[in-house]
Amino acid sequence: DTLINQIAAGEVVERPASVVKELVENALDAGAGRVDIDLEEGGTRLIRIRDDGRGIARDELALAVSRHATSKIASLEDLEGVGTLGFRGEALPSIASVSRFRITSRREEDEHAHAIEVDGGRVAPPVPRPHPRGTTVEVRDLFYNVPARRKFLRAERTEFGHIEEWLRQLALARPQVELRVTHNGKPSRRWKGEADLLSDVRLHETLGPEFARHAMRVDHEGAGLRLHGWIARPAYNRASADQQYLYCNSRAIRDRSVAHAVKLAYSDVMYHGRQPAYVLFLELDPRRVDVNVHPAKHEVRFRDSRLVHDFVYRTLQSALAETRA
Ligand code: ADP
Ligand code: MG
Repeated sequence: DTLINQIAAGEVVERPASVVKELVENALDAGAGRVDIDLEEGGTRLIRIRDDGRGIARDELALAVSRHATSKIASLEDLEGVGTLGFRGEALPSIASVSRFRITSRREEDEHAHAIEVDGGRVAPPVPRPHPRGTTVEVRDLFYNVPARRKFLRAERTEFGHIEEWLRQLALARPQVELRVTHNGKPSRRWKGEADLLSDVRLHETLGPEFARHAMRVDHEGAGLRLHGWIARPAYNRASADQQYLYCNSRAIRDRSVAHAVKLAYSDVMYHGRQPAYVLFLELDPRRVDVNVHPAKHEVRFRDSRLVHDFVYRTLQSALAETRA
């Protein structure tokens, strides 16, 4: 099984940032209000994610690191309307097969926590350990047993940069969650928990004062779709597409058709070749979108892609038209 897990890891675990993503998403799925992220050497030496979520029972720890054991999907119907971020039960076994791995967890009702260690895929029995309610996952020496993959890890700064970029993406989508990040023992970022809607404070903290100064709110509903968030006025145009954040039902996505709709809306008001900046949330009935397309789950498939495209285009075009008036 270790080999199968390592092969799956090739898809799920590209680099430290993908490990951080999978682990933090598990924390959010467990209802965490606060997530602590400790990194060493860009995550290559250590990634430690601690949450205050609902925890895992002692007897389910081994299951959590075994293949296709997800607690999140009980039926095909669930798969259709999947509301959690994870659902394949692949992340933990994959990560554990290519690292020195430990998961420690405690539920509210447990007297103390239990931990299991997995070394290159070999699972040890659970042992008691002190830990508050919630879960800590530690991933050390990523790819230590897969030299061909280890070779592709980049400089510490680069790997850390990928993690930071993903954290920005997350911080924008989950304002309720408090996030703390340390790197090599030093505090690196901290986002305080806020209300459900992204505030201009967090926007400012995440994308900087320039974006915040040029941002305008959009919020529009129709045909069972809602598009809300912030778009930058055309004057704030960028040479690269580095501040384009798009979410569908709280999940960061990449979608050509929606990206095209946004671009089209800006095309009248922005110089050719310049890039708009935005943080946009699209919401619709989960049954109208298929997220089960790729393990990394950035891509989605809308049941009526044309409708979504036109809705996004019209909403933004009329918001931007006001900036000209
Ligand atoms: P998936 O998220 O697709 O279900 P994972 O391999 O990421 O698969 O996780 C396997 C299972 O382990 C989850 O379904 C969940 O039951 C449990 N689990 C993982 N991380 C946590 C966590 N931080 N808190 C509570 N349960 C967790
Ligand atoms: Mg998961």
